[in-house]
Amino acid sequence: MSVAPAQLPDTPLAAPIARLWGVGSERVKQLARLDIHTVEDLLLNKPHRYEDRRKLLPIAELRLKEAATVRGKIIAAGTKGWKKGARAMFECILDDGTARLHCRWWQASSWMEDYYAVGREFLVFGKPESLRPRTVDHPETEFVEPGEDEFIHVNRIVPIHPLTEGLTARVMRTLVWRALERFENQIEEPVPGIPHKGATSNLPGRANAVRMIHFPEELTDVEIARQRLALDEFVELQMQIQQRRKNFEAKSKALPCGGDQNRLIKPFLVQLGFKLTDAQTRVLREIRADMGGAYPMRRLLQGDVGSGKTAVAACAALMSLECGFNVALMAPTEILAEQHFRNFTRWFEPLGIKVELQTGSRKTSNTQHPTSNIQRGGDKDHASRITHHTFLFIGTHALLTSGFDLPQLGLVIIDEQHKFGVTQREQLLRKGVYPHLLVMTATPIPRTLGLTLYGDLDVSVIDELPPGRGAIKTFVRPVDKLPKVWEFLREKLKTGRQAYVVYPRVEENADGLKAVTKEFDNLKSKLAPFRVGLLHGRLKSAEKEAAMADFRAKHMNVLLATSLIEVGVDVPNATVMLIENAESFGLAQLHQLRGRIGRGAHESFCILISDAKNPDSRERLRVLEETNDGFRIAEADLKLRGPGELLGQQQSGLPRFRFGNLAEDLALIHQARELVANILR
Ligand code: ADP
Ligand code: MG
Repeated sequence: MSVAPAQLPDTPLAAPIARLWGVGSERVKQLARLDIHTVEDLLLNKPHRYEDRRKLLPIAELRLKEAATVRGKIIAAGTKGWKKGARAMFECILDDGTARLHCRWWQASSWMEDYYAVGREFLVFGKPESLRPRTVDHPETEFVEPGEDEFIHVNRIVPIHPLTEGLTARVMRTLVWRALERFENQIEEPVPGIPHKGATSNLPGRANAVRMIHFPEELTDVEIARQRLALDEFVELQMQIQQRRKNFEAKSKALPCGGDQNRLIKPFLVQLGFKLTDAQTRVLREIRADMGGAYPMRRLLQGDVGSGKTAVAACAALMSLECGFNVALMAPTEILAEQHFRNFTRWFEPLGIKVELQTGSRKTSNTQHPTSNIQRGGDKDHASRITHHTFLFIGTHALLTSGFDLPQLGLVIIDEQHKFGVTQREQLLRKGVYPHLLVMTATPIPRTLGLTLYGDLDVSVIDELPPGRGAIKTFVRPVDKLPKVWEFLREKLKTGRQAYVVYPRVEENADGLKAVTKEFDNLKSKLAPFRVGLLHGRLKSAEKEAAMADFRAKHMNVLLATSLIEVGVDVPNATVMLIENAESFGLAQLHQLRGRIGRGAHESFCILISDAKNPDSRERLRVLEETNDGFRIAEADLKLRGPGELLGQQQSGLPRFRFGNLAEDLALIHQARELVANILR
């Protein structure tokens, strides 16, 4: 999905770019390379920088290594070093009456001699490499044609747009200018009633903003114009999201799944062994209201790793089951599905609920198929439903297999939902008739992204960890400290704790990152007599299960793994997470991995090994040292890497913004949401 320009297709702005005066087939091709096809594309093509040409710097005042724009006439030019085999260099000398400036291009092209002809006047933007003589290499230049359009290109702040071969800044600027002259008064407000008061400043009207983004009076205008155009993009998107939601509410009626006097929940909570936190209880109230409401629930449950989403999911499932409707729970990995299957079987079978597992390699539905057990069709009578078995189906995407029926589906739960695409979510929902939906994620999503990606979901947040958790300490260490780290690890193992050691690769390849299969033998001898197990995605399911089972049963002290264990795995006795090549993981991913420890009462340690020299990588790892707060980490990640990287496979659902900035525009997104809600009301 990309945000369509906020204009109807038949507006004048949708006219092909060739309609503009002076745009022939060659220009059309050049513009197409910049993804500019219509007048509107041209008008919304954001400059990548601006030059203040109101007062140009005299050449005499240029400073070393400081970028600046000057204007002068060429007094000499020529190609140098025309030796066989050597590259030719082109140089011209510019004079503005105060001093001379040498402009050099290390790869001369044949057109340069004609273009940079003596006597011609040029604007030159560059960074002096030397002041004696004054020299810039590979400057950006603009030919000043005598008398032509002076008011567009000089004596003002001018835009420098993204360019392509054959299309100069000056030509582009002229095109934009002409398009504005002709179409500016046809630029319409996308929706009525966008106030000129923005979230952070007074915003101009749209037409005004479009002019300002190209030809600002002051450099500060640029940001104001950007905000206005960004707001329009967010409004457009919110319109789609909220309209979709409205349509959904209009056509779907909810199954009554609000529970039956805690008939099953009460005994479940009694044997659970702990009391729900206030946050868990609050979220459950929100879920109950939805599941007993008029429209099917569409809710996102966010809660940091270890915040206890599973128990909440269990209670939600029981509400549906109390009402006689079955539940499906989908998890992204077999390991996690197995873990859920084990827990839920233990919790639910005593309550008379059948728990079934469906993964690529295992199916437990060898008992009677549930369809035959439940009266379908006409009989929707409550009492008759609850006399039959109700089912919880747990599985991986294998649940989606066509032909695998999920009858009487009241609730669909998707765990670690960021690992799934929207299509898979929809596929599972279609196994029922508008069942309720609860999606859960531990990857905290910055609010901006949440509102953008999941704008059609209601959001619940578990913002509190269960009590009695040991603290997690995080350290970043260089590779040469590894011997000490191993020593430390052995100390912890001696006290009975367990550890994870994570490497980025299964097998070694050219990228030089460490691999589990390679390190396995190494580690076995290094940590002997402690026992080391191996877990990665290329093992057979049975092998993976066996490894997890051994680790859980403490037959194994250390689990050597890939990031496969990132989601869901819950072994409270494991208190050390050691990650090598830490710089090769995303921040959110590292936070997830760290979430595997700190689940019991013992103090836990996360040790990130990295020799990364790159300041960005170091900065990212430092964020982890500083905070355990998933939301802060996600926000840092968003700023450092951008939304595409942060979201991984989710990005498919992310619209492309020309002006909107998901790392910074939370206030605008809120404003857009409210605006649209008011309009649709
Ligand atoms: P996540 O939100 O990451 O899925 P889990 O549901 O796996 O977290 O819960 C993490 C651990 O915390 C589990 O061992 C679970 O039994 C425990 N837990 C959950 N809720 C509570 C609570 N209210 N009090 C104590 N322990 C809890
Ligand atoms: Mg979980």
